[in-house]
Amino acid sequence: MLEGFTPWPPQYVKRYREAGWWEEKPLAEKLEEIAAEVPDKVAFVCGEARVTYRDMFARINRLALHFVEAGLRLGDRVVLQLPNIEEFVYTFFGLVKVGVIPIMSLPPHRSTEIGYFLRHSGAVGYAIPSEFRKFNYIEMAEALRKEISELKYIMVAGESLGPDMISINRLLDTPIEDRYPSDYLKKFRPDPYDVALVHLSGGTTALPKLIPRTHNDYVLNAKQSAAAAGVDADTVFLAVLPIAHNFTLGSYGVIGTWLNKGRVVISAATDPQSVFSLIREEKVTVAAAAVPLVVLWVNSKDVGRYDLSSLKVVQNGGARLAPELRRKVKEVLNAFPQEVFGTAEGLLNYVRLNDPDDMVMESSGRPVSPHDEVKVIDDFGNSLPFGEIGELVTRGPYTVRGYFRAPEHNKAAWTEDGFYKTGDLVRMNEKGYIFTEGRKKDVINRGGEKINVEEVENLILSHPKVKNVAVVAMPDPVFLERACAYVILQDNETITFKDLIDYLLGKNIAKFKLPERLEVVAEFPLSPAGKILKRDLREDIAKKLESERRTK
Ligand code: AMP
Repeated sequence: MLEGFTPWPPQYVKRYREAGWWEEKPLAEKLEEIAAEVPDKVAFVCGEARVTYRDMFARINRLALHFVEAGLRLGDRVVLQLPNIEEFVYTFFGLVKVGVIPIMSLPPHRSTEIGYFLRHSGAVGYAIPSEFRKFNYIEMAEALRKEISELKYIMVAGESLGPDMISINRLLDTPIEDRYPSDYLKKFRPDPYDVALVHLSGGTTALPKLIPRTHNDYVLNAKQSAAAAGVDADTVFLAVLPIAHNFTLGSYGVIGTWLNKGRVVISAATDPQSVFSLIREEKVTVAAAAVPLVVLWVNSKDVGRYDLSSLKVVQNGGARLAPELRRKVKEVLNAFPQEVFGTAEGLLNYVRLNDPDDMVMESSGRPVSPHDEVKVIDDFGNSLPFGEIGELVTRGPYTVRGYFRAPEHNKAAWTEDGFYKTGDLVRMNEKGYIFTEGRKKDVINRGGEKINVEEVENLILSHPKVKNVAVVAMPDPVFLERACAYVILQDNETITFKDLIDYLLGKNIAKFKLPERLEVVAEFPLSPAGKILKRDLREDIAKKLESERRTK
């Protein structure tokens, strides 16, 4: 068992195993068995590549052998930072197959975040594209390797390569299977109770927490959400958000589609023309999106130029899709707006295809598994009656019991009886439908991408001209929320927005975390206890934006 991972208590292990919810099968093995039933079917399409289930697993197994031969071993960690490219599939499953644990970072992360993931997880490997969206990952990896001596394996997908780096493409082109008995990889079969992969939390503390997901729980995660969504072998799923996200990877995502023998269409492009032509060419039936993409697609003037009649469902996850936009999904795209309210820690809520219309338009769905325990609690931990707003807490067979190597934080983020505190304020009706109403946690949700406020505040505070800072959400028509930094300066200092951004860029963080507005003030509104009243600041910036909009 991976050190630093919190297992479920034995009585729950027993319950989940005996109920058959945990299949006791490693993730890659489970998928490979299904692949063997439909070897000639196309598993996924990515650019020019059309890859059958047989070829997908032949490549996964070849890479897995190469990884083992290179010295990677069960329980090792590799930070995986690959975008939506073909190599993602082979590398992710090649690692998981032999029990090497991918840490699922995202393409926009930069050296500060990646350095932290590498160090905190004790990773020995780092998988990158040579370049993506004009950013050179090789240079970043070179710099990180100088600082982190444990980092032995840098694996690169793409044309160019730095010294002592491993080319994933070359490994894929180099047969190795003839040198080993056909059952050789069985020796490296991971324990299904152990950690299969690590997701990142939206996080409320200074740095994102790592979420260890086991084989047992992640198979269930994908299976249950796919069942709630009605996936079958005819499903053609468009993976257009980063596959590394829990939503696109396994909730139900690509894994849920493959568990049901469907087909996946992988795209790195999100613009309406690219997406619409893929839907038309590949007869996509389901597209998994987030609010900014839905806004882009339903308002596109190109929508009428494409035959989108295959599209049945547009899923939305990461942040709430307003009823008005759900209506537009129906009217403009002629598709069912399926709300997915989920967490990378586990619990997933889905609106079902046969739900009553008012729940489809308004609710955030209900849990995908009957074994999900959900409660809405007040500040003292008491359960609230239906209809009252409180914090959503949850426990269940695919909701983790702790972050990786974070014992202190785990005490705050889980109740004593093992319920994960989501930090979401919700109400629940008698039928179990959940309605999101706001947040307890100090996170900004930028169209589904979470900004960890404390992390950004700490960086701004390190600026020599800044005396104090409060980062708050400001309303936005596309992203719902964006970050605004309220700053008190040191005496007689001045600062421009550009100064601040240049400074933060120099800190090598993902761009989506940057504040998008600066307000310099003399003081903050404070509570009697001296706490900054962020709610007042949020109201202040919302009013300012509204009056600027009116005077435009
Ligand atoms: P993540 O860990 O990035 O998956 O983020 C999980 C958090 O995103 C949840 O706790 C919610 O705050 C938010 N979230 C995800 N999906 C939705 C949704 N459909 N509606 C409202 N909030 C959502």
